Amino acid sequence: MLSGFTKCPGLFYATPAQDGILSRIRIPGGILNSKQCRAIAEIADLYGGGYVDVTNRANLQIREIHQGINAEVLKRLQKLGLGSNNTAVDQIRNIMTSPTAGIDPQELVDTRPFVQAWDNYIKANSQLSALSAKFSVCFDGGGIVSVSDRVNDIVFAAVLVDGNVYFRLGLSVGAKGKPAKDTGILLPLENCLPVLAALADVYLAHIDASSKHKLRLREVVNSLGCENYLQEVQQRLAFPLSSLGQKEKFVERTATKYHHIGIHPQRQPSLFYLGVVLPLGRIETMQILGLAELAEKYGSGTLRLTPRQNILLTDIPQQWVADVQSKMAALGLDCSVSNINSVLVACSGKRGCAASITDTKGDALALAEYLKNRVSLDSPVNIHFSGCAKSCAQHSKSDITLLGVSVEEENGTVEGYRVYVGVDDNDLQFGREYQFVTVAKLPALIERMLLVYKTQRLNHDETFREFANRYQISQLKQLCDRSHVLNQCQ
Ligand code: SF4
Repeated sequence: MLSGFTKCPGLFYATPAQDGILSRIRIPGGILNSKQCRAIAEIADLYGGGYVDVTNRANLQIREIHQGINAEVLKRLQKLGLGSNNTAVDQIRNIMTSPTAGIDPQELVDTRPFVQAWDNYIKANSQLSALSAKFSVCFDGGGIVSVSDRVNDIVFAAVLVDGNVYFRLGLSVGAKGKPAKDTGILLPLENCLPVLAALADVYLAHIDASSKHKLRLREVVNSLGCENYLQEVQQRLAFPLSSLGQKEKFVERTATKYHHIGIHPQRQPSLFYLGVVLPLGRIETMQILGLAELAEKYGSGTLRLTPRQNILLTDIPQQWVADVQSKMAALGLDCSVSNINSVLVACSGKRGCAASITDTKGDALALAEYLKNRVSLDSPVNIHFSGCAKSCAQHSKSDITLLGVSVEEENGTVEGYRVYVGVDDNDLQFGREYQFVTVAKLPALIERMLLVYKTQRLNHDETFREFANRYQISQLKQLCDRSHVLNQCQ
């Protein structure tokens, strides 16, 4: 038997954090209706800090809870379809899917039924409560908003092969924090659920189900070897697992970055979805209530949470888009990709997590405020603040990563960030190290970097990461220092 350690919050597994108790509501596929939104807002007001956080798995978190949530309230949430009726499986990681499933003009398959089927399977099979709470599954429908690059244990990514849609199977293997690796296995859509059940069963056969200390799937796969693991999966199936043949070609769909923000047409004629920016994934309860009302009045009463920590308002008829936008503005919300907050990411930081060196959220918001009237971006730059190397808020690479550290200086300990840019040749976790900067000097440094990017990029399509990768770190520093001098002379 193999063993490891896991501990994750859920609606019925409230967890203490620095700022009070943390309750996480698992929302399969991130899809909510307006009634559920109202109930969540009420609880966040009554028990929590008057806001909720959308997480990078499209869950909702209520923080700053200082007294337990009443059992009657939990029952009410269950009746509304929030939180599992089988509380034993409630802490298992949320099922991730393309947030535009079913409305995406480019998708190959609507993944919502797969999410529902796997969620039902988990709830109906009590032995799955022994899964690691971090057992994570993702269905990507091959649409415009891709999620297959997110870190998950198991990924089903839709592809088109000779005119037919299949799922490619990805499995977490190798080092921690990497996206699942393509196994080469191609599954007819109807085989997806049996394969998923078999993958879970093999995992359970190799761990100590009674232990609180569960290994990650990746560790079990690494220990057995990917081929052996898949052979054991095969033994549990009534059909062969087949790989992509040499002659078959699959069509890779190109996801368009940042279509989770802004106003976009749906596959349904004359309907649009609006991707709303939430600074650091946080939304005040009065804003949730306002969005729920807009969803009911103008759309289908549906709101979707995305793994990029924002919200989609869907099914809005074209003639109402401008009205909805102005009503959102009155709530203090907008849909603009040029909003620096659209791709600003921070983990809980010092206020919410004992492991954090810095106040990541506070520093990120201060940076956004500083940049607001100084730099206008026409394409998003993803800036990720992490309070320690665990990188909870964003596992995938960002344009600029800021890792919280403290350093000893003459006058004592100073808090700041190690700045990383672009991608490292050795594929290190955060990219190429740029320099250490104190919290106080961080906003001006990022301002210089963004201004240099805007003036020196090859064209409007060049991302910050691509731009940074064209230079040695020493050259980048020279460019930024020169811009600083020029600015001072102006
Ligand atoms: S990245 Fe580190 S500091 Fe931030 S929430 Fe995770 S464990 Fe805490």
